[in-house]
Amino acid sequence: MSKQEQKEILLKIEDLKQYFPVGKKSFFGKGEQLYVRANDGVTVNIYKGETLGLVGESGCGKSTLGRSILQLYEQTDGRTMYYGTNIYEVNPKYVKENIKNYPENKKKFIAAESEKNKKIDEIEKISDETEKLKAIESLKDVEKKARHLFYDIIELAGAMVLVKDDEKVSKLLMEEFNLNCELTKIKNSVKPVIANGEPTKELSADQINKIAELEKKLERNKADMDQLLGTVKDNPNFEAYSAEKGIGVNLANLEDTEMREIRDQLQLIFQDPYSSLNPRLTVGQIISEGLNAHPKFKNMENKQDYILKIMEDCGLAPYFIHRYPHQFSGGQRQRIGIARSVALQPEFIVCDEAVSALDVSIQSQIINLLLDLKEKDNLTYLFISHDLSVIKYISDRVAVMYLGNIVELADTGELYSHPMHPYTEALLAAIPTTDSDNRKEIQILEGDIPSPIRPPKGCKFHTRCKYADEICNTVTPVLEEKRPGHFVACHHHLNEE
Ligand code: SF4
Repeated sequence: MSKQEQKEILLKIEDLKQYFPVGKKSFFGKGEQLYVRANDGVTVNIYKGETLGLVGESGCGKSTLGRSILQLYEQTDGRTMYYGTNIYEVNPKYVKENIKNYPENKKKFIAAESEKNKKIDEIEKISDETEKLKAIESLKDVEKKARHLFYDIIELAGAMVLVKDDEKVSKLLMEEFNLNCELTKIKNSVKPVIANGEPTKELSADQINKIAELEKKLERNKADMDQLLGTVKDNPNFEAYSAEKGIGVNLANLEDTEMREIRDQLQLIFQDPYSSLNPRLTVGQIISEGLNAHPKFKNMENKQDYILKIMEDCGLAPYFIHRYPHQFSGGQRQRIGIARSVALQPEFIVCDEAVSALDVSIQSQIINLLLDLKEKDNLTYLFISHDLSVIKYISDRVAVMYLGNIVELADTGELYSHPMHPYTEALLAAIPTTDSDNRKEIQILEGDIPSPIRPPKGCKFHTRCKYADEICNTVTPVLEEKRPGHFVACHHHLNEE
């Protein structure tokens, strides 16, 4: 088992697309609708407790990706699975819809699969190399459609997908979902009380009876499911499909009110500590704003003490609580921004160029603060920066982004010692060094970044890549694992040995 497989996935992002509409092609608005393709099919896992660095030139779509994951922008396409909570806690409408439409979705999946297989057969018969490459490109969309439909049904049903009676499967899944949601609601409605210094939940007799009744119904539901599963357990895909059943939440499908309920778990630290704080609010009010907005913290006892504790954790003196943002330096303001985010006890924080606007000496203080908080609360970060040195220092793994796609992803040490994508190689070669003994010649990346409205066909980097050839101009390379844990999207990747 690889190092990655042993880790717990917190976010599973698949084919995330974020397109922003811009003006139409023709002057009279009759042409096709154009889009800025800020993120163009990003697939990446983020593991619990890690810092994933995201690096790339300005305008490559890094910040958009961070905000799309947090659903601050409604994502255009793709799935963003979040495992910090579960569907029974959130009770989202989309799950009920998917279960209700299970028989129909399964049929759509079977149709998409047969379309995919038909296309594959057609491709095998094409002899002209260029035509073949074009057909392979068009196959990718069909494959993607089939894959999304597959995930929608397999995540709900697991190996039950092998059972032929779809109506019965749908009925049992709906029953399982409703019972679990009701059970979770009752358990969550009980407020913990402190007994012997520990928070404990005391249930009323009514609640105990209701929970026992629901658990009994769940047992019966499980027995019915097991009976159906028994009829398909000899299928070679049984084990693999069983493992796919999950209770993660697809953030992309949540409604605004549902997303607001888990917003406390997914936070953002902004780049600009000057403009991200309301100048009319004191530090105490800024930190308590999020707490007052969220039902979990709204009626919290000793809120003032809690805010002071968070301020202390973030290196802010207690007497700052009544001061306004303009009375602080850049580094202190960023500490206030961090305190505002961590006060909500998040699982995951997007740090969007969180130190880029600060002096170098202050940068290291803020980075160390972020690392301390991560250690203390087992936080997970997506750390966005264009600064490769900062990324190297803070990240466990690094993803390199170019024009809306991740082109390389690896552990930090591996990526810096073995860059496999020509773009990563060029970025690393452009870092100036202060080491006079090992001074290297700085290599400038030639050419401009192409327009994200009409990105180049094939590999988007081919207009600037010194290794580009015919295949690069026509076929989009896929992000593939070339060394353990090291993914690269390039037809002629470097440093494989
Ligand atoms: S696929 Fe071709 S153009 Fe793209 S990075 Fe690799 S060698 Fe360069």
